Amino acid sequence: MTVETAVQDSVAEPVQLKAKDFKGKVDPDWCKGCGDFGVLNCLQKACADLGLRPHEILTVSGIGCSSNFPGYFNSYGMHTLHGRALAVATGAQLANHELTVLVTGGDGDGFGIGGNHFTHTARRNVDLTYLVMDNQIYGLTTGQVSPTSRLEMKTKSTPFGSVELPINPITAAIMNGATFVARGFSGDAKHLTLITKQAIEHKGFALIDIFSPCVTFNHDNDYPFFKPRVKKLEDEEHDPSDWKSACEKAMVWGDTIYTGLFFQKKGQPSLSELEPVLDEGGPLARRSLELSQDQSQMIIERMM
Ligand code: SF4
Repeated sequence: MTVETAVQDSVAEPVQLKAKDFKGKVDPDWCKGCGDFGVLNCLQKACADLGLRPHEILTVSGIGCSSNFPGYFNSYGMHTLHGRALAVATGAQLANHELTVLVTGGDGDGFGIGGNHFTHTARRNVDLTYLVMDNQIYGLTTGQVSPTSRLEMKTKSTPFGSVELPINPITAAIMNGATFVARGFSGDAKHLTLITKQAIEHKGFALIDIFSPCVTFNHDNDYPFFKPRVKKLEDEEHDPSDWKSACEKAMVWGDTIYTGLFFQKKGQPSLSELEPVLDEGGPLARRSLELSQDQSQMIIERMM
């Protein structure tokens, strides 16, 4: 085989990557048994199954245990400010709308500090996948009440039990205009991988709220709590185009807690599809700035 033939063959048949090819250079420092390991494994497998390549993906996070994710995942990555991952990801997605944009973080980062960005990213239908590792507590700061902690839950910051009602990320996302809203469980890898693939393939804002137990600081909502309760919506013949049914199913919390795809609205244009500047000419990041050598040099010097 000549070199030219080998090159042609490699162009015609790109190598199918495996989950291990999406392993980052740094090993996770999460506690043994943390639910975030399951989410990381599922995302790596989902990206391999979808035939994605690391240079086609950007992973953005805020602050928290789960927000260390970009370091553990092989793709472009940005570890940003507390609660600001969705805002940064929106800018990145508009700058290069050909990227597959993933946002990873926790319930405190996303629904507390970043709650405003959650609302606006959903209503703008930004084409990205938001994986929230929802452990119902602030883990990195050693166990304080979070926006999804259950009523009466005792934590370091609520020693007599929380007096605040938790938010419901599923109904909140639907009411804010999200076009793909799902819930997963890190203890069911096969199902979570399937949902993750569906979310990445969806054109528009996709939320997966994932029960990802904090085995160190939340002993109320742990694996033994979720395992007997989680039931897949797929087994209930739920219709994801029916938002009313989706909200009713999302409110169920007791002996049964649903996972799966609650709501999907197909065909709604995403922000980058509606933005007239992006109509022609490809991604902004690849367009010429049409600057002279002197102008480019001046900008570089100012920024360095
Ligand atoms: Fe996971 Fe909780 Fe440990 Fe953080 S503190 S790594 S969330 S188990």
